[in-house]
Amino acid sequence: MREGIHPEYYQATVTCNCGNTFVTGSTKKEIHVEVCSKCHSFYTGQQKATTARGRIDKFNKKYGVESK
Ligand SMILES: [Zn+2]
Repeated sequence: MREGIHPEYYQATVTCNCGNTFVTGSTKKEIHVEVCSKCHSFYTGQQKATTARGRIDKFNKKYGVESK
């Protein structure tokens, strides 16, 4: 096998938008992903929860209810 034909293989650090980092084999040293396999399911669930909370806050403001 001659050198220079195959790209170098690094232990790439993958950084996800959720803050999770993990190491995988890649030809790149650093990889940035928006969603990783680890967080994908709870990431979508979290978004729904945030949306629901925002609606409650809007409701409370509209009717002058203080949220505790
Ligand atoms: Zn993630």
